[in-house]
Amino acid sequence: MIRLNDILNKVSHYNSSADLNMIRKAYVYCAKVHQGQIRLSGEPYIIHPMEVSAILADLKLDVPTVVAGLLHDTVEDTLATLEELTELFGEEVAALVDGVTKIGKIHFKTKQESQAENFRKMLLAMSDDIRVILIKLADRLHNMRTLQFQPEIKQRNIARETLDIYASIAHRLGIQSIKTELEDLSFQYLEPQIYADLASKVTTKTQEREAYVEEVKKIIISKLDEYGIHGEVSGRSKHLYSIYRKMVKRNVDFDDIYDLVAVRVLVDDIKSCYEVLGIVHSLWKPITARFKDYIAMPKGNMYQSLHTTVIGPTGERVEVQIRTFEMHHVAESGIAAHWKYKEGKGYDEREVERFAWLRQLLELQQELQDSKEFMDSVKIDLFSEEVYVFTPQGDVKSLPKQSTPIDFAYSIHSDIGDRCVGAKVNGKLVPLKYELKNGDIIEIITSPHHTPSKDWLKIVKSSKARNRIRLWIKTEERNRSISLGREICEKEFRRYSLNYNKLFKSGEIKNAAAEYGLRSEDDLMAAIGYGKLSVGQLIGKLVPEAKLNALKEQVDKVEKTKPSTRRKDTGAILISGVDDVMVRFGKCCNPLPGDDIVGFITRGRGVTVHVADCPVAFATDPERRIDVAWNSEKHAPLPVKIRVTCHDHKGILADTTQAITSCEANIISAHIQSTVDKMGVNTFEVEVMDIDHLRKVMNAIMRLDDVVKVERLKN
Ligand code: MN
Repeated sequence: MIRLNDILNKVSHYNSSADLNMIRKAYVYCAKVHQGQIRLSGEPYIIHPMEVSAILADLKLDVPTVVAGLLHDTVEDTLATLEELTELFGEEVAALVDGVTKIGKIHFKTKQESQAENFRKMLLAMSDDIRVILIKLADRLHNMRTLQFQPEIKQRNIARETLDIYASIAHRLGIQSIKTELEDLSFQYLEPQIYADLASKVTTKTQEREAYVEEVKKIIISKLDEYGIHGEVSGRSKHLYSIYRKMVKRNVDFDDIYDLVAVRVLVDDIKSCYEVLGIVHSLWKPITARFKDYIAMPKGNMYQSLHTTVIGPTGERVEVQIRTFEMHHVAESGIAAHWKYKEGKGYDEREVERFAWLRQLLELQQELQDSKEFMDSVKIDLFSEEVYVFTPQGDVKSLPKQSTPIDFAYSIHSDIGDRCVGAKVNGKLVPLKYELKNGDIIEIITSPHHTPSKDWLKIVKSSKARNRIRLWIKTEERNRSISLGREICEKEFRRYSLNYNKLFKSGEIKNAAAEYGLRSEDDLMAAIGYGKLSVGQLIGKLVPEAKLNALKEQVDKVEKTKPSTRRKDTGAILISGVDDVMVRFGKCCNPLPGDDIVGFITRGRGVTVHVADCPVAFATDPERRIDVAWNSEKHAPLPVKIRVTCHDHKGILADTTQAITSCEANIISAHIQSTVDKMGVNTFEVEVMDIDHLRKVMNAIMRLDDVVKVERLKN
């Protein structure tokens, strides 16, 4: 049974200045709060936190981590509180225990393979200090070591989760020693038959080969002596799960896994590694294809070593791994190896460079001064671009950070996104712009007739949601243009005594569409609705020229009697998402660039733009409203009406027109009126570029003597 002294000895062995009293104090506290609790094995509960703490000490972690290992189950399973832990052991330890408690509450609910990666990432992202993950791994390792006391069904579930999640995290963090042990333990419970079979084969083989391995070792050791290289040589057995995986992957039998005979040489420095490699290659013939230099090219999880396979003394293949003691420690402990630098030494820049993903981080964090700051920044910024949340069924979804329930809804299904009206997070209603947090459980509320809103584009973060909303808006706009185009045609056709339905049925409209290179009647109507084609052009296609001319004359005759209300189209207006729509300005309010404006789809006439506070606009059906904006780039001058009130005397009209034209504004029309009390009320229609231009014109008039008032007419 483990004793407190075992832990203290381990810690003082690698950290002579460690605060051992803190560990003693945590032990006493732990014993007190867990008192009376028994594990399934029948042992007192405290054995578990002590074993966890010892595993952390084996990884040579700092004192707060070892202490937190002792306390890791206190908040969850006893009456202890975080406040108490903070008071007794400080904030750092309390935060570590809190982190372990939090991620302990997450359970991996679904069995799908694809979920595992998300779940792994979520665990990492949720622990804002990577030491929380190390404690969790140690916790899981001890639970796996004592899994035989659990009921069988639980054994399988826990083993599966361990293999899919925790072994994989250990691998990712480069902690080989924990990874291999977790894998072999899981393997044992998941495939007991295969495991037992393989274990006995390996034992037999190892015995058979023992003499052989000893011989290889002896030869290498004597050579090291001869060259004066300090080092250690050990035989090495591959772990069972990796043999099994290799057999499955290559579809071969146990006997074909040839590199069972393997030795490892540990030396002091890199120079010696290559010297040993030279010695081994001079002793035995190498198989070149099997040589790997992970010293020059470290693996992503910062593993470094030389691997070579040679034809050994009796003609059998031998795999030799050569690395420094330091590299070996890193290979076994991975990221955990970095914590010892926190105490005293200061860390070696080159060490860190081996960590591919840490290196990326470093590039972003060049200015960081010390190792503490560096490690704080490592936290788990690795996955900071994503947030991990659950469906009510327990599936994990990964979304970009700052995603909203709308993003989540679209990640489930486009239809759910389109109809999303609200969401519950962890059982509570939230607004749609709510920012999702790691571990949230999201339930989407839908309504069958709801449709996406353009405003959603401002808050969604995932490309799936954005694309789908854009597509919906585009389709919607197309549908609107089709019906708009059709209304325009029907109306215009009637003036030429043409019947839309007849022409549609006879296929003439379809033929006309084809002549424009369009696929269908709908495409043609959309083109007219968008204003890309004019209805006049279409009529030209539908009616023979001679007949058309006759018709035109008739139409002209009728229309000449009415004053033209037509106004020239301009490029002054941007209709969001749509190009080339027919635009007209409300005669009532004559909007100018700079005015707040609204647009309305007008049956048969494209879009009409009004000043936002125009009474006509208020009276228009809000269903037909469409977002419009001024196009700052190009447009022709726009007409506006101004009324000038002045003392009427000779020459005032000439002065006014002079003032207007001196501002480079065109006068379209003028209407002169005198009142009985000798006042003049003159109304001008003037073309100006925008509201500033208008102001200039009005100021110029105002400066004239005898002018009392200048106002813009909005209706
Ligand atoms: Mn535990």
